[in-house]
Amino acid sequence: MSDCIFCQIVSGSIPSSKLYEDDQILAFRDINPQAVVHFIVIPKQHIDSADRIDASNSAVVARIFEQIPQICAQLGLRDGYRVLTNVGKHGAQSVKHLHFHVLGGEQLSERLK
Ligand code: 5GP
Ligand code: ZN
Repeated sequence: MSDCIFCQIVSGSIPSSKLYEDDQILAFRDINPQAVVHFIVIPKQHIDSADRIDASNSAVVARIFEQIPQICAQLGLRDGYRVLTNVGKHGAQSVKHLHFHVLGGEQLSERLK
């Protein structure tokens, strides 16, 4: 989708600080980090949100969750981290391309809200 920021990051028309890339997924640092370490993992194909995951596209989600531990290990997140995804208006999703935030490098709050 040409008007999607994350599709533009995938195409390279918007630069990003990449941590991992393969033919299906991309991980890059968040431009406005909410923790000492904060990166985003996305499928290269445009999927609106986690609410649009189904049997036809869930393999790429598995691919993302296979890669997250590898990236976290490379970043030295030995004491844990948080993975989250915001969905829709009530979930405060600002970029309408499925993405998983990974936060760590410090003690995070117990609160989820
Ligand atoms: P959301 O609020 O949709 O869950 O998260 C979107 C995230 O994308 C935010 O944390 C925001 O900082 C990040 N973001 C938005 N635009 C850009 C960008 O152009 N580059 C990078 N690296 N991150 C971005
Ligand atoms: Zn997109």
